[in-house]
Amino acid sequence: MKQRLLFLGPPGAGKGTQAERLAASQGLLHLSTGDLLRGEVAAATELGCEAEAVMARGELVSDGLVLAIVRSRLEGHSGGWLLDGFPRNLAQAEALNSLLEDLAQQIELVVLMELDDDRLIQRLLGRGRADDNEAVIRHRLEVYREQTEPLISYYRQRQLLEPVEASGSVEAIAARILELTS
Ligand code: AMP
Repeated sequence: MKQRLLFLGPPGAGKGTQAERLAASQGLLHLSTGDLLRGEVAAATELGCEAEAVMARGELVSDGLVLAIVRSRLEGHSGGWLLDGFPRNLAQAEALNSLLEDLAQQIELVVLMELDDDRLIQRLLGRGRADDNEAVIRHRLEVYREQTEPLISYYRQRQLLEPVEASGSVEAIAARILELTS
């Protein structure tokens, strides 16, 4: 079983749902930068206040801020992990590489969840999160295309990437992912 995983894919592809499920069943640390940032916003911490407006616009929070969150949670954690929603751009991917070098760890698999735009938008509109209105959703998809999609070829070149068709039932998608991780 692979122990160090990244979940990559557009907003609405179901990364959070699948990541949570897989992490629970395999005993991995689930690190969702989106969830952690929302927690900071809800607790009105300094970090949360800094991130709130950026998140509401559907843009990316600064690399330094997100990296500090990830670093603090991976340092001192000896077991497996699943990163969900991080990295989101090439600078974060490079920063993750050097963090993992420091920790003498390596990414074992990058799961790319794929779904067409119409279904992504439908799912996001049904979710009702603060940043899920149509204009912000479209912007988040643009940000994904521009900043996050380059990570697909980045990890493909490193022979870590495995695409998964993210349509069908939660169970069917989970089964596809589980097959890749074993
Ligand atoms: P998510 O829950 O992954 O869709 O993330 C929700 C929002 O949190 C994003 O639209 C960004 O504003 C912010 N965010 C989450 N992860 C990152 C990241 N790795 N880098 C920058 N911003 C992030």
